[in-house]
Amino acid sequence: MHIVTTIAGSDCGGGAGIQADLKTFQELEVFGTSVITALTAQNTLGVSGVCPIDVSFIKKQFEALVEDFPIAAIKTGMLYSADIIKAIARMIDELNIPLIVDPVMIAKGGESLLQQEAINALCSTLLPLATVVTPNIPEAETLTGRTIQHFEDIKDVAQSLLQLGVQCVIIKGGHLANPLYAIDYVFIKNGPSFSMQSPRIQTKNTHGTGCTFSAALTAFLGRGFAMEEAIIEAKKFIQLAIMYDLSIGNGHGPTNHFA
Ligand code: PLP
Repeated sequence: MHIVTTIAGSDCGGGAGIQADLKTFQELEVFGTSVITALTAQNTLGVSGVCPIDVSFIKKQFEALVEDFPIAAIKTGMLYSADIIKAIARMIDELNIPLIVDPVMIAKGGESLLQQEAINALCSTLLPLATVVTPNIPEAETLTGRTIQHFEDIKDVAQSLLQLGVQCVIIKGGHLANPLYAIDYVFIKNGPSFSMQSPRIQTKNTHGTGCTFSAALTAFLGRGFAMEEAIIEAKKFIQLAIMYDLSIGNGHGPTNHFA
């Protein structure tokens, strides 16, 4: 059994964060472990509170895992502060395993899940260690300080992320104004670039989509899939999870991890 780890925030509502990651791991037949960086109080209507965990206790969780388990891949989600990011980068630096960084910044309701000053720390300490980074369009713009309007902009932004040392950049195009398709753009260092197009699914139930996609990618990479194959399988998984969305709660419901 392959063991993978998510380092992320808890969503007590179960649709995003650690909870979405662990459900996805289970569904994709890897053994999920977790390091919780922050607690959030939230439901499908929004985030009503954030409580970061002490850096020393984040380290303690990670040390407990590394001491006992041969971790096959790690993903990071909500990291919240520069101090947390720097501590995690120091801990991960010594492990030579796939690292998937989902640069979570803002919840759908607009609540901040990453402090402004943490963005520099993300770019300077964690992204150079990343095997894959999975920003959506606004996150890619924030990470690089550029505006994305055309495909050329997407290519430029991906290049600047690759220059930070990331091995593979996946820019998720769900925020682009394309009424028919959701297109994701993949750029692999010294490898192919390609896009993945799927029919746009009209639904308000997309809570935790980014978490679920990056968790699926972590599961497939942890199982030893080659990069391109892992990306394509993760895209299929998230497409089904959105297609068979769950109308749970009164707001933006979660995607369906059992799809
Ligand atoms: N809460 C936590 C803990 C998360 O990690 C994420 C992930 O992006 C979110 C909320 C945001 O969820 P969404 O914006 O998909 O509703």
